[in-house]
Amino acid sequence: MRVLLIGGGGREHALAWKIAQSPLCEALFAAPGNPGTAQCGTNVAVAVEDHNAVVRFCRSERIDFVVVGPEVPLVAGIVDDLAAAGITAFGPSRAAAQLEGSKGFTKELCAEFGIPTAAFARFTEKAAARAYVRERGAPIVVKADGLAAGKGVVVATAIAEAEEAVAMMFGGSVGAAGTEVVIEEFLEGEEASFFALCDGTRAIPLGTAQDHKRAYDGDEGPNTGGMGAYSPAPVLTPDIEARVMREIVEPTLAGMRARGVPFVGVLYAGLMLTPGGPKLIEYNVRFGDPECQVLMPRLESDILPVMRDACDGALDTLSLRWSHETALTVVLAARGYPGAVEKGSEIRGIDAAEAIPGARVFHAGTREEHGRLTANGGRVLNVTALGSKVAEAQERAYAAVNRIDWPEGFCRRDIGWRAVARKNAS
Ligand code: AMP
Repeated sequence: MRVLLIGGGGREHALAWKIAQSPLCEALFAAPGNPGTAQCGTNVAVAVEDHNAVVRFCRSERIDFVVVGPEVPLVAGIVDDLAAAGITAFGPSRAAAQLEGSKGFTKELCAEFGIPTAAFARFTEKAAARAYVRERGAPIVVKADGLAAGKGVVVATAIAEAEEAVAMMFGGSVGAAGTEVVIEEFLEGEEASFFALCDGTRAIPLGTAQDHKRAYDGDEGPNTGGMGAYSPAPVLTPDIEARVMREIVEPTLAGMRARGVPFVGVLYAGLMLTPGGPKLIEYNVRFGDPECQVLMPRLESDILPVMRDACDGALDTLSLRWSHETALTVVLAARGYPGAVEKGSEIRGIDAAEAIPGARVFHAGTREEHGRLTANGGRVLNVTALGSKVAEAQERAYAAVNRIDWPEGFCRRDIGWRAVARKNAS
C-alpha cells in the first residue's frame, strides 16, 4: 500500500511510526509531517486545506490509502472529497465528523438514542442563555458549539463566571464556533478516554488512556492541548469498558446509521466516570494527541489492515493484540506554552533519551535545519516509555526526559500520578 498521512504533530509521528512497521506499507508520505515523520517516510509540502491539491498529489504518487490525523480536515470534508476522486481515506465523512464539529449535534443524538451524558440546553441568543444559567445555578458548564481548539469550554463555579462565558462566546471570542452555545450540567467524577475503531456498523475497542490537560504539576495552571498521558487507564476496568461499549459507543453507531451518516474511523469518547456510571462528556472523531502516542506503542497488531477493513465496512470483531505493558508520555513544551512561545532554540539529546530501555521520542513542533533540531511550536516533543507497570513507565519516561538537553523547554514532573497512586493503593 502507498499511504499518505495528513497532519504534522506528535500524534502523526506516532501513527507514521506504527504504519511504517506494517509489511503492507510500500511507501509512506506525510503532509506536512515533521522531522519525526521524516524518519518513517517522506514529508511533502502539500497544502492540506486545498483538497484538490491533496487529490492531485494522491494521483501523481499513486496513493492507495490516506490516513487523516487531525480533526480540522475531517470536519472540512477531506474524506468525502477524496472518496469522490476514488481515493480511500480513513476517517469519518464531513457529516459524521459533526460528532466532534458540533456539540449540539452530539447532544441531540445522545438525547434521541438514550446515550448517558450531562443534561443540556442549546442557545442561539445571549439573553435566553443567561436566563437558563440563572435558573440552573452553578457549577455549570458553558460550551461553544463548534471547533474552538480547546478554548470553547468554561467550567463555571459561579453564576457570574458562567454569564461572562456566555457573553464572551456570543461576543465572538471563539469566532464562528460560538454562534451557538450549549449549556450543560456539571458532572462529577474521574475523567478517562476510551477509543473505538468503527466501520459504520461495528466497533472494536482501541484502548483507554488518561491525560493531563493543565500546564503545571498538581493539575494547576491553564488548560493545554495535553501535557502527558498514559495507557491503559486503570480506572476503566473491563466492566466499565463493556458498559461504555454497550451504553455509549454502540448506540452512537446505531444512531448515526439511523440518521444516514454512518461513522467510520476512530471514535474517541471523553468520559466522566460518575457514581451513576460512565457518561459522555464529548466525542472526538480521531486519535487524541498525546493519547495516540501511548496507544501506538502498545498496539502489537498491524494497524493498516484494520484501518482498511474499517473503511470497507468489514471490521472483524476479533479484538486487536495489545502489549500488557503500560505506556506513558511526557510532553516537553516551549517555555510560555500555552501562551506565546519563542521558536528556534536548539534541542539535543534525543538519541541518548531513546537509549533508555522502552523509551521513544515522538516529535511534535520540531524543525530540522542544517542538521540542527530546533523548537517550532508550543508542544515540541513527546517523550514516551513502556514499562511493566505504570510506575516503571513513568520512571523510564522521566529518565529519558532528563537526557534531553533543551533549556528553553519545560514539562510536568507528575504525569501518571493518578494511576501510580491507584496502583500503590491496590
Ligand atoms: P470538552 O472540550 O467538552 O472535552 O471539555 C473540556 C473539559 O471540560 C473536559 O475535559 C472536562 O474536564 C470539562 N468538562 C466538560 N464538560 C463537563 C461537564 N458537563 N461536567 C464537568 N466537567 C466538564
